[in-house]
Amino acid sequence: MTDIHPVQLGKRVIDTGTAEPPHNRVTQQLSEVDEGIAVVESFSHCWALRTDEGLVCIDASGPRSGAVVVEALRNWSDDPVHTLVYTHGHLDHVGGSGAFVADAEARGHARPRVVAHEAVPARFERYRRTNGWNLAINRRQFGGVRPDIGIESEAGRFLPDDVAEPDLTYRDRVEIEVGGRRLELRHARGETDDHTWVWDSEDRAVYAGDFVIWVFPNAGNPQKVQRYPIEWAAAMREMLAAGAEKVYPAHGLPIVGRKRVEIVLGDMADALEHLADATLAMMNEGATIDEIIHTVRVPEHLADRPWLAPQYDEPEFVVRNVYRQFGGWWDGNPAHLKPSRESALAAEMVALAGSVEALTDRALELAESGDLRLACHLVELAVAAEPEHEGAHRARAAVYWRRRAAERSLMAKGVYSAAARESEAVFGEVTGRDRMRDAIGKALG
Ligand SMILES: [Zn+2]
Repeated sequence: MTDIHPVQLGKRVIDTGTAEPPHNRVTQQLSEVDEGIAVVESFSHCWALRTDEGLVCIDASGPRSGAVVVEALRNWSDDPVHTLVYTHGHLDHVGGSGAFVADAEARGHARPRVVAHEAVPARFERYRRTNGWNLAINRRQFGGVRPDIGIESEAGRFLPDDVAEPDLTYRDRVEIEVGGRRLELRHARGETDDHTWVWDSEDRAVYAGDFVIWVFPNAGNPQKVQRYPIEWAAAMREMLAAGAEKVYPAHGLPIVGRKRVEIVLGDMADALEHLADATLAMMNEGATIDEIIHTVRVPEHLADRPWLAPQYDEPEFVVRNVYRQFGGWWDGNPAHLKPSRESALAAEMVALAGSVEALTDRALELAESGDLRLACHLVELAVAAEPEHEGAHRARAAVYWRRRAAERSLMAKGVYSAAARESEAVFGEVTGRDRMRDAIGKALG
């Protein structure tokens, strides 16, 4: 699979409409996709353009992959990296910048000029301010699911110290010219508030960053700050209107050929617009988030598109983010406005049911019959009522492992496996529990 050229694989998947996992490849290998244009398929990809004044690189890949990406680049070109563009400030796009700077120093080249949207420095500041929180949620998101993914840097630091701050920032659009290549950087909100997509009008090529990731758009992430599904769809429309004939994404495969660009970007925009429109329509009718998430779906004809597979994020979470963007945090249930402690409610429910076992037995029965949503509520009540109850934790771990297996998105799988492990640590040996508490304490400290 890794032998096939990424452009060829992209064409094949789009033309057949059939997924060929893993099309989100992390091969760490460089492929030339056009004259003077190469990609290193990593986490994230790094795109490199040759110019008369040196290389323009788009994204630096992550903290652990930066050095490998630079090495792959150096087998292709010895030219200085003149400019490094961050498509946004996520770690898998900026974390490798230290390796680019170190490479320049080692070769006696000038330090690359770093260009990014003006909200990137503010993001870095936020990461420093919420360091422990970001370590904890990222571990939960990726923990145990893809441990090789390489998003964590040295212990205790979410944003590595050697990440290069932008030298040049812009607000809406900026044109940069390097060695005869003119590139327009355009800002749009989508996955983040600091996103850039790069437009090479001469080549009709878009460097799309995370606007295109070959899985369902990461516009719903349950543990992260606001994302922007409507603006994301608008950016897809803008790329199409600009006349893009090639789309070079930061994850997944190059999309080459106008028709293919129209298919993939059009599908993404359709799916996001539908979710947003349907959610807003229900909100305008006074619906609660409870009613909305159990009603709004991606249109049937888009459900099996390989580039919309809910393997990372998922539509239900996008619906929630639309609600949050326009509706605040309250879910519409008056009891939830200023709730009692969950443990107090759980103790009442256990008393009414007669025992913790009444809840856990029913939870396992529900899980068996496939109603995992309901089963999860009951095991949560059981352990909230009696946090040291071994049987409750055994049932909880069993339900969440089952739930994890039934889910498709990495984000849901991560949360559910973290919950299962948390319960296993409680009924496991004492050292296991201590280790878990220690790890959580460290992550939050
Ligand atoms: Zn990314």
